[in-house]
Amino acid sequence: MSDTDKPALTMAPKMYVHYCEHEGCEMWGGFGRSASKDEPPHWWCWEHFPHKSHEQEQALIRQRLEAIQRESGAK
Ligand SMILES: [Zn+2]
Repeated sequence: MSDTDKPALTMAPKMYVHYCEHEGCEMWGGFGRSASKDEPPHWWCWEHFPHKSHEQEQALIRQRLEAIQRESGAK
């Protein structure tokens, strides 16, 4: 198995390309927010999106912990 076995993306990129604004983060910025319609929106990955609800923050923390537990238990 190698990455070259994956099928190439055939979908043409129609969307404006925007990555997470968090410094040093190179994740895709799938979550945007603009203060007003006159200002360009800002984009973040889900992890750095600063407008999550408390419940969403807690769910993200839980997912991280579960991922860590899975990794440490895998070997
Ligand atoms: Zn980010």
